[in-house]
Amino acid sequence: MNKLRFYHNHILGIEGLEPQEITSLLNLSDNFVENNRSEHRKLNNLRGKTIVNLFFETSTRTRTSFELAGKNLGADVVNMQVSTSSISKGETLIDTAITLNAMNIDILIVRHPESGAVKLLSEKVNCSVINAGDGTHEHPTQALLDALTIRRRKGHLNGLTVAICGDILHSRVAHSNINLLNIMDANVRLIAPLTLLPTQTHMHGIEIFHDMFTGLVGVDIIMILRVQNERMYGNFIPSIREYFHFFGLDYEKLKLAKSDALIMHPGPINRGFELDSDLADDVEHSVIREQVEMGVAVRMACLSVLIKNFDHNKS
Ligand code: ASP
Repeated sequence: MNKLRFYHNHILGIEGLEPQEITSLLNLSDNFVENNRSEHRKLNNLRGKTIVNLFFETSTRTRTSFELAGKNLGADVVNMQVSTSSISKGETLIDTAITLNAMNIDILIVRHPESGAVKLLSEKVNCSVINAGDGTHEHPTQALLDALTIRRRKGHLNGLTVAICGDILHSRVAHSNINLLNIMDANVRLIAPLTLLPTQTHMHGIEIFHDMFTGLVGVDIIMILRVQNERMYGNFIPSIREYFHFFGLDYEKLKLAKSDALIMHPGPINRGFELDSDLADDVEHSVIREQVEMGVAVRMACLSVLIKNFDHNKS
């Protein structure tokens, strides 16, 4: 097995990671995929460690995935319900950090509606922190699980053409994926209406399209994003019907991509809005369920490396 190269205490984003660090995490995740498919999937690498899931926004997939990842590694996992905790009574983020510090936890997993809030918390707590999504900023474990899904299907990431389609403006998934694909030398195309694109996309080599009919031609991977209604203040989209007509992926538009192109979606899917419902379930093309499986393995890899680094840096 390749040597593990990942020396950070926190995983706050993909930006700033080195290609070898991403490769290391993906290699380790690959081992966990095999482990999770076996009958004896319970490990005890994190026995005696405590993980807290602190979610200030709703989540089904990500929170459950982190919980399973922690439990598969033998850790104790606690889910902090924001609506029933004192956070809803007005406790500040810093007070929350002080409280958590007093509980001597090992890893804190945080989702927060404000971009940057997870980093702020990481500066105040005495444990490792994983960003499970902060505002429209980053969702690093989603990008890693997407990369693992692609790498296992295509054998590599470099040189592939990946179209990221839809609500890029509000999507932390898009931002983390753009960062990761750039670092790993894949070609990125963004396909979105003008209203759903950030005003500046700083990275070199990104191609922008406002039309699926030209943007999807010859691509290897199609990542469809959820339209994030909860982050839209104003009218970004004329109607669901019109959006689906121009930017929703259906069998007709899929024909423009390579014949073996993969369809991905981070979930939850707005069926019939950004993606045709039958196509979402069509395992000939869609790897959406596989993404969910890869999520547990990637999160196990992230938890394992952070515990190792944290224990090492303490000693
Ligand atoms: N689950 C992903 C996120 O939390 C994608 C989404 O919600 O659209 O960002």
